[in-house]
Amino acid sequence: MRMTKLFTKTTKEAPQDAESANARLLARAGFVDQHMAGVYSYLPLGLRVLKNIQKIVREEMDAIGGQEVLLPALLSSEPWKKTGRWEDPGPEVMFQFRGAGDRDVGLGWTHEEIITPLMQKFVHSYQDLPVAVYQIQDKFRNELRAKSGILRGREFNMKDLYSFHASVDDLEEYYDKVLEAYLRVFTRCGIRAIPTEASGGSFSKISHEFQMPTESGEDTIFVNEAGDYAWNKEVVPDIKDGDPAPDGSGKVKEMKAVEVGNIFKLKTKYTEAFDMTFTDESGERKPVQMGCYGIGPSRVMGSIVEASHDDAGMIWPKSVAPYPVHLVSITSNDEEMNERVRSVAEGIADDLEKCCGIEVLWDDRSDVSAGEKFADADLIGIPLRLVVSKKTLAEDSAEWRQRGSDETRLIKIEGIREEVEAYVKEE
Ligand code: ATP
Ligand code: MG
Repeated sequence: MRMTKLFTKTTKEAPQDAESANARLLARAGFVDQHMAGVYSYLPLGLRVLKNIQKIVREEMDAIGGQEVLLPALLSSEPWKKTGRWEDPGPEVMFQFRGAGDRDVGLGWTHEEIITPLMQKFVHSYQDLPVAVYQIQDKFRNELRAKSGILRGREFNMKDLYSFHASVDDLEEYYDKVLEAYLRVFTRCGIRAIPTEASGGSFSKISHEFQMPTESGEDTIFVNEAGDYAWNKEVVPDIKDGDPAPDGSGKVKEMKAVEVGNIFKLKTKYTEAFDMTFTDESGERKPVQMGCYGIGPSRVMGSIVEASHDDAGMIWPKSVAPYPVHLVSITSNDEEMNERVRSVAEGIADDLEKCCGIEVLWDDRSDVSAGEKFADADLIGIPLRLVVSKKTLAEDSAEWRQRGSDETRLIKIEGIREEVEAYVKEE
């Protein structure tokens, strides 16, 4: 992608109400645009990051047997009236309105009420179980406060997985598998998310949240000494920093954190509401056991920015960066040299894309100073910056710099493809 073709532009001005780093930097770099509080458009660079996160989530859900579907977002009130959630939490969370024919409808904020009757049509006997189904879709929630950029949206992206089992044992086994898959998702996205005990709702003692420590988070957690398990303040209200851990594993450290995922053993909470049963081996009808598991890819995107930025801008992990390479060509007042710089840069971009499928964001603007180009590269935060200029060409080279490091070095033009390919592929 050439910067001269990219319709978005960077700005020095952050939106006035942007209190958090993600709101400020994503807007300034042209990744997202705020439509109203908690509602964003994803622009080309931002959408690429979101899609990269969704791809990681999708791969890990597929690896644990999840089958992808797409459920409606516009929902009939009927199943919600059945579970009582049309009234409670009702409009406090759900956008509800009157549709054609005077029907009560609402926008999806979670999908137990849709997936349970749907799966009921297909699950009849123990032979149909277990089964796990997920979707990646925008959810709508009438959030009271939406002030932390894309961390808390009123419309936001969510992956929701639902699993159905013949026994609690089978549900528990799968729950542990999902927990491991979630840890892989967050590691691959370059963030540290700590499994955290949280309240489980009415059917299970606890659920697990995945909490990423950050000052911009709204939750308070107590992390164990090893840093690999935590308790949400809501389940251990009497604990404070330095107290013994609830499981006896040393002392806890108090931290602010943002919840990037949450997994629940719902057991029969929804299957009983819809009378979803199956016939077991002995011919007996039993309620299906159910679990639900959420990750917010858009919140993950904002969380990555919170965890990984500096004064100059964002610092994307390779796995989710909008492009792996940011190529900068620097022009001067020497027209002949400019032609050379341009053709070498174009050669690098074409070669990487055609030969290795490595997509390059090429800053080919001729009316912008080197300083401004470098500032934009830092703001956008692509992990590898390559510079081609009169100076580097004097050495038949380009300049190599990784975002987040001050070190630069020259690499020969002829060896660029191999070096970049190795860099992009390495974990
Ligand atoms: P919170 O406590 O932060 O309001 P929640 O517990 O209500 O979140 P869940 O219903 O568990 O959220 O949703 C699953 C996942 O969806 C969350 O772990 C989070 O990653 C994401 N998510 C939830 N609400 C929002 C929101 N308003 N904006 C962006 N992502 C969200
Ligand atoms: Mg939650």
